[in-house]
Amino acid sequence: MDRLADFPAIPAGWAYLDTAATAQKPQPVIDAITRAYGETYATVHRGVYQRSADMTLAYEAARAAAARLIGGQVNEIVFVRGATEAINLVAQSWGGTHLKAGDRILLSQLEHHSNIVSWQLLRDRTGIEIDVCPLTPDGRIDLDAAEAMLTPAHKLVAFAHVSNVLGSILDVRRAADLAHAVGAKLLLDGCQAVPRLPVDVGAIGCDFYVYSGHKLYGPTGIGCLWARAEILDAMPPYQGGGSMIDKVTFERTTYAPAPTRFEAGTPHIVGALGLHAAIDYVEAIGLDAIHAHEAALVTRTRDALRDLNSVTLFGPDDAAGIVSFAVEGVHPHDVGTILDEGHVAIRAGHHCAQPLMEALGVPATARASFGVYNGPADVDALVRGLERVRRIFG
Ligand code: PMP
Repeated sequence: MDRLADFPAIPAGWAYLDTAATAQKPQPVIDAITRAYGETYATVHRGVYQRSADMTLAYEAARAAAARLIGGQVNEIVFVRGATEAINLVAQSWGGTHLKAGDRILLSQLEHHSNIVSWQLLRDRTGIEIDVCPLTPDGRIDLDAAEAMLTPAHKLVAFAHVSNVLGSILDVRRAADLAHAVGAKLLLDGCQAVPRLPVDVGAIGCDFYVYSGHKLYGPTGIGCLWARAEILDAMPPYQGGGSMIDKVTFERTTYAPAPTRFEAGTPHIVGALGLHAAIDYVEAIGLDAIHAHEAALVTRTRDALRDLNSVTLFGPDDAAGIVSFAVEGVHPHDVGTILDEGHVAIRAGHHCAQPLMEALGVPATARASFGVYNGPADVDALVRGLERVRRIFG
């Protein structure tokens, strides 16, 4: 897969290995944003003039694309700022209505802080209890343990589809069956899955699915909440303001139907159009092809790092596009700095997953993550950089 030429912000000789934090943008996405601001810009949903009507069509076409990408219906997609806002929306709106003191939710040890703290805020409001599913030794959410932990008191299971640190892929069908067997709903954090795997919410059988545009080669500030129509229709507003209403008086306000009810204020119009271009871009390549490409890079990386005897690898061998590792005796930040000197950009830190770091017994990891623009040469640059780290630190 040779897509590097589509990405003007990646100069020759720079190995960008931080796609799990945010993906670089292909020219069609940049063009869509430039055109939206430079030629076709207007507000949506309100204007009586043609330009605004056209922009409304484009904004709603983006919603249709965002739904199609994950096999959902257009009226089931709420545009939000990103996965973080989507999870907060579900916690405050659905959780605030349906969960009460004594109810339990099940998270896992590898969740991103956005899928932990959002629920803690709800816990502080309602008195729900949070349980934490452990991991298997190779870094997957242990679904046998989840099965043993789940009880009828559990109303929600919220798991990452793909771990942003370990790349481990959840058996989402089984997670849905386990949640539903006790009457709980399943929320999947698809931030790292949507750019890397084909996703079909209908086939999975989940109830909520969230993802961020900027990890999918689209703009920042736009993301999606998908929720099954009957669930979304019954959820109260999350924020109040313009656009989300039916009729407002000082005595009483009625609200627009979903998904408009959840999009208070002027939305990120151009972000939605950029996201649409990003979705078209990945669909034209094919998510199966992207997954196979990244799996090959993961295998090449893990095989090479295994040969460097001072490197510890985390996560499973069949990880989706993400490899976390530690170099013995060297802090991950020093690893990252030395790699940067060799024009290799990785992430070093806790990756917004401090409870996972605790479980791994490390303060931080170094993480290489791949996208459609990476190739074997990037892995080789990483390995050369790590050999230099070893030489410097003896
Ligand atoms: N969940 C996962 C698994 C992530 O990787 C991220 C981003 N690192 C988030 C949630 C939060 O996404 P955002 O910052 O785009 O809201």
